[in-house]
Amino acid sequence: MITSESESVDQQVSTGHLPAWGEVESLTAAAFERYRRLDEGEVADYIPILADADPSLFGLSVSEVNGATHDIGDSGHGFSIQSVSKAFLYALVCEAHGHAFVKERVGVNNTGLAFNSVIAVELNDGHPMNPMVNAGALSTTALMPGATAAEQWEFIRTGLSAFAGRQLVMDGEVYASEMATNSRNKAIARLLESYGHLNADPLETVDIYTRQCALLVTAHDLAVMGATLADGGVNPVTGEQVVSPEVCRDTLSMLAASGMYERSGEWLFEIGLPAKSGVAGGIVAVAPGKGAIGAFSPRLNSAGNSVRGQRAIAYLSRALGLNLFASHATPPTERAANDHRA
Ligand code: GLN
Repeated sequence: MITSESESVDQQVSTGHLPAWGEVESLTAAAFERYRRLDEGEVADYIPILADADPSLFGLSVSEVNGATHDIGDSGHGFSIQSVSKAFLYALVCEAHGHAFVKERVGVNNTGLAFNSVIAVELNDGHPMNPMVNAGALSTTALMPGATAAEQWEFIRTGLSAFAGRQLVMDGEVYASEMATNSRNKAIARLLESYGHLNADPLETVDIYTRQCALLVTAHDLAVMGATLADGGVNPVTGEQVVSPEVCRDTLSMLAASGMYERSGEWLFEIGLPAKSGVAGGIVAVAPGKGAIGAFSPRLNSAGNSVRGQRAIAYLSRALGLNLFASHATPPTERAANDHRA
């Protein structure tokens, strides 16, 4: 254990500001223009209905913590949230059960393996490892408050809607298409059960998980949802406190470690922002204290991350100064007189 909650002190935060509204607006448009014709990658087809997506779709949205938004392209086009939901589910479960409990039950370390890996569970004595892979998301779903599966589902739908600032609805066709083909997720849930690591009915858990993955969102919604995590848990558009600032911090650290699957290290190295992607082509990237970027384009790379979405976010991370690890040297004139350095 590195720290315990009892050691925590009141936290100051380490953030900055976005450029002025007009600059964010023009850089969002520039990011869109740069990558709108890029046609690398393939549309996901392991969930049959996703193969029907129009590969030319591309939407980009930036939501600022002050409530301003910037939208371009197909930013209002609805698509299934898929794994991007894992970020917000985790936040809801942390809010309900607390930091230490969720750390122990779901875990916080990257598996280094694909999001739907069965072997990752076996290699780790049946532990789901982290909330951003399917095993961890199934455990997170099972921990959702509610006496019945229907109540848990309603809790999730209402919670994710509060992040988005509007009532989200499920796409019944996406749900049915995935339920007919998701033997692997059912196997993962059974495997967790066999280790005593799932405290709910495995098939019911898969059913709720599949429903939440089929919720329809837009790139604009993802930006607002992410900006809520950037804004101490307050939705910057509705003003509702959805989760606590501590939960946002915990959730964003999970996205940084594992949100882009086994490419999370590379993503952090190149882009320097916590982010989460989904197989329908959505990505949310969060700049704490500043805002968030929502991107949607269905062509994916081999890890399942949207190609245009990644490139556009990489551009905006640099152009808007969002990389969490970037700094400039302090000018000599501003340095304190440090006698001890002599
Ligand atoms: N519903 C999808 C699955 O479980 C989500 C995966 C994803 O977006 N990476 O396979």
